[in-house]
Amino acid sequence: MEIKRCARCGQFFETINEVCNNCIAKDNKDIGKLKNYFSYGYVAGKVSLGDISNDTGITMKNLNRLISNEEFEGVYIPETLSENNIDKKKIVAKV
Ligand SMILES: [Zn+2]
Repeated sequence: MEIKRCARCGQFFETINEVCNNCIAKDNKDIGKLKNYFSYGYVAGKVSLGDISNDTGITMKNLNRLISNEEFEGVYIPETLSENNIDKKKIVAKV
């Protein structure tokens, strides 16, 4: 095991995970919110990461990290909607 800095709270801890034990539950809660969001409120090409952050209350920092989880593989959300025109083909709602 190595010493890492928690991606959520910044504390140093010994682990193989990205976040410390205190933050694992918070991460899981946010992942649940995201899954919910993709299942119900999500229209491909109509939302940006900023919108999702506003709607779910997940910070942009955490959102960027969580969205790259393998659970959300294939999901591409642009940071702003103006990018949509370029990247529309890449947006896939799989979850
Ligand atoms: Zn933490």
